[in-house]
Amino acid sequence: MIWLAICVASCAGAAAQTKEDPARIAVDLRDAARYEFHAQLSLPVKPGPLTLVYPKWIPGEHSPTGPIVDLTGLKFTADGKEVAWSRDSVDMYALHVEVPSGATRLEIKLDYLSPSETNGSREHPSATPKLAVLNWYTVMLYPQGTRSDDLTYVASLRLPEGWKYGTALPVAKEETGEVDFEPASLTTLIDSPVITGQYFRDVDLAPGEKTKHTLHIAADGPTALEPSATEVQHLRQLVAEEYALFGARHYRRYDFLLALTDRMPPDGVEHHESSDNRTPEGLFLDPDIREMHMDLLPHESVHSWNGKYRRPAGLATPNYQEPMKGDLLWVYEGLTQYYGQVLTARAGLWTPERFHENLAATAAYLNDRPGRTWRDLQDTATAAQLLYGAAEEGSSWRRGVDYYDESILIWLEADTIIRRETKGKKSLDDFCKKFHGGENTGPKLVMYTFDDVVVTMNEVAPYDWRTFFEERLKSHGPGAPLGGIENSGWKLVFNDTMNDHERAAEAAELVVDEQFSLGFRVHSPGGPDGGEILDVIPGSPAASVGLAPGMQLVAVNGRKWGPELLRDAIRRAKDSREPIELLAQNGDYFQTYRIDYHGGERYPHLEAIGGKADVLSEIVKRKAAEVATPAKF
Ligand SMILES: [Zn+2]
Repeated sequence: MIWLAICVASCAGAAAQTKEDPARIAVDLRDAARYEFHAQLSLPVKPGPLTLVYPKWIPGEHSPTGPIVDLTGLKFTADGKEVAWSRDSVDMYALHVEVPSGATRLEIKLDYLSPSETNGSREHPSATPKLAVLNWYTVMLYPQGTRSDDLTYVASLRLPEGWKYGTALPVAKEETGEVDFEPASLTTLIDSPVITGQYFRDVDLAPGEKTKHTLHIAADGPTALEPSATEVQHLRQLVAEEYALFGARHYRRYDFLLALTDRMPPDGVEHHESSDNRTPEGLFLDPDIREMHMDLLPHESVHSWNGKYRRPAGLATPNYQEPMKGDLLWVYEGLTQYYGQVLTARAGLWTPERFHENLAATAAYLNDRPGRTWRDLQDTATAAQLLYGAAEEGSSWRRGVDYYDESILIWLEADTIIRRETKGKKSLDDFCKKFHGGENTGPKLVMYTFDDVVVTMNEVAPYDWRTFFEERLKSHGPGAPLGGIENSGWKLVFNDTMNDHERAAEAAELVVDEQFSLGFRVHSPGGPDGGEILDVIPGSPAASVGLAPGMQLVAVNGRKWGPELLRDAIRRAKDSREPIELLAQNGDYFQTYRIDYHGGERYPHLEAIGGKADVLSEIVKRKAAEVATPAKF
């Protein structure tokens, strides 16, 4: 009701942007390599005051992160005459104009300035010299108080010479370097980013199928564009596994947009009919990068069902100015994180052993987070809009967006309970079929509440699911919910053999991870922030002698530090009574910290519990028919 009141008060100058009289937006990406996106909009209007808004709450980011600071070069005209504009003094995303009498269209020129590199903020680069990702919200204005479903935009795009592109947005007409799209609602337009680049290729991920699935790869260099036949087989298997899991699709086609670049941070954003995936350039070249990032495409594509088709009521807002509520992100992101990784294993992108190692590392770091004593998991979801931007420094005390990884443990436990209660006849897969499947449809939104989750869980297997979830969401520990690992026949153990996931993470992220022994992570010396201590776990041996995040590690036992030297010192201290001496720089001061630790190296793994059934291996088994490895693709 509040919503309608806003509309009546502020829509005076807006005409309906209907199919008959749509808004138009023409974007020119020819200066993308200079980090400038140019746009021209033409909106149908009526004379009088008009307020236009720039998208603030970005779907998939669950936060008010619309990059308004980089909206530049604004110029409004009507009938060839300039129209003055002013910003609202309270709402920085709202711009006021007075549409002159007689005018029926308002023409707007604007530029979006993309950051050229990662600057620590949540606004990531949208371009590199060789590729770009156009998210239409970066160049968009629309009338305040309208519903994005009710607005029609006709979009067109001018590409840099020789660049190819991929998008799920239906194309009306295409000439060299110019693409005209079919009219679409503002919802669909914002939901359909475009990837474009000089080094570009398409891979068909469902040849012979009626529903097209395409992987569009744009890379900073030509050698990065070559997935192996086995990798293509795994990605095709992923498409088959997702259909086997959900039993229906809610898209007309699906486009995986994949930017391979070191100039954008690894990240992904989900959409109904596509996903905007970004990984380091070496995804198909470097096995450690592959291991670290191969679960991205499964995660983002699961969101088509869990997040876009089924969406928590608090995240299903009518436009991009209404605040989003993150309280059910443990379903939206958490169940996606669980199935993203399960499907990565089912598709063959990870081996079952690799899935185990990842689960062990996840369980271990969550189990060791003292932050849960003051902040429950529910608060990490409710405060998502704050925590996405939080630094790693202090994260084990602050907690971060833990509703991703901790929900893996919770949904795994739910999965094992369903299997136990139904004597193996049903599993969490049945919940997904009921909750996310149904009929094959185009993009569609079906909202849900916490109660709807509980009801459907009960339909699959009667159990006190409300209490089950509430206890885990409101728990202050001690420790993480590890019941699912135990129910599935495994237990978390530590030994001095490096965990495979941690090893790949160390190589890919240039960190040294001793959080389970001394209690800290540190940037490895080869990286740009070499020696910087990232986080120190409260209560750990390092914390108890005063080491803190932000300090610089300088030396171990009197010698300039390196990863091997540090590990060697930990190994030697196991059989000695001498403390480990770390010299650290804190601001302009140096200090030696003596850590009386003799526990040796400690890395997490899963160990089978004798006599218990191995449910975990059952969960990650291929469910769809095996897709053939292609000879050519
Ligand atoms: Zn996600």
